[in-house]
Amino acid sequence: MTIPKPNTTNIQGDNLLPQTPSSQMITPPRVDFDKNRFDTLVAQKGVDVAVEKALQCPCKTQKINNLSTCKNCGGTGWIYVNRRLSRFVLQSMDFQNKEEVWSRLVHGVVKITAPAEEKLSFMDRITRLNSNSIFSQVVQFEQDRNGIYYGFLSYEPKDIEYLGLFITADDKLQQVNSSDIKITNSRIELAPTVELPYIDDNNPLTATIRYVHAPVFYVFEHNREVVDNYRWNGKGETLQYLPTLALARRAHDVDDMTNLKQGRLHDNSYDDSSCVPTNIFKPACNPQM
Ligand SMILES: [Zn+2]
Repeated sequence: MTIPKPNTTNIQGDNLLPQTPSSQMITPPRVDFDKNRFDTLVAQKGVDVAVEKALQCPCKTQKINNLSTCKNCGGTGWIYVNRRLSRFVLQSMDFQNKEEVWSRLVHGVVKITAPAEEKLSFMDRITRLNSNSIFSQVVQFEQDRNGIYYGFLSYEPKDIEYLGLFITADDKLQQVNSSDIKITNSRIELAPTVELPYIDDNNPLTATIRYVHAPVFYVFEHNREVVDNYRWNGKGETLQYLPTLALARRAHDVDDMTNLKQGRLHDNSYDDSSCVPTNIFKPACNPQM
């Protein structure tokens, strides 16, 4: 990586940094951080994650907030692009022990250690692929051109525990077998053979669903601005970037998260140099994943 030299003169050309450490001060003996050792630890102790970069959606102006109809952000104001695999250390989810009125605001926060090359930033989305979270929500079904009833979930389900269709306020929910539900990413479809209740404009088809998905976290704090560090290389100093420490919040607790419906939004992914197949942290470059 080529690091541009910072500008050390003022507008008159005067040197603003006349005092630099003397060579006696920076030559050995010294103990340095070893970036390779940190990165190796992250690779060995980390877990598989999918990382997506966050972009702010330009569908808002000075006069109006983000559009609920926007096909880029789904009304949340955030666009997620360039999904890729990596390996991070995720640890110590916090729990609140004090008594509170029950609400979604009882949240979880994880500490994340990520290689500096991942360029983590505010609101980036991290999915812990091999872990499980359980979520329940209401699905609003619509009918596609072929007459199939479909709906979108907040997360991509790994497994559906229960799906029950609403009939009327007086009737018991109508359970649908998992073999009659087709899952494509976060879209679910009901098989044409499922017996449906009466549906019209005033009685749309809705269901309650409880399902298992990979837990999702959103970065809200990080220290990537202070991870630059020098290491003695035998002849001089080498600039190195140590792993980034970040705090991320569980997605259930982010406002309007149910609006994030993958599959109905545009994919704004772009070509970026961070997709390097030879990097140990990126075993596959798979923006389609
Ligand atoms: Zn938008």
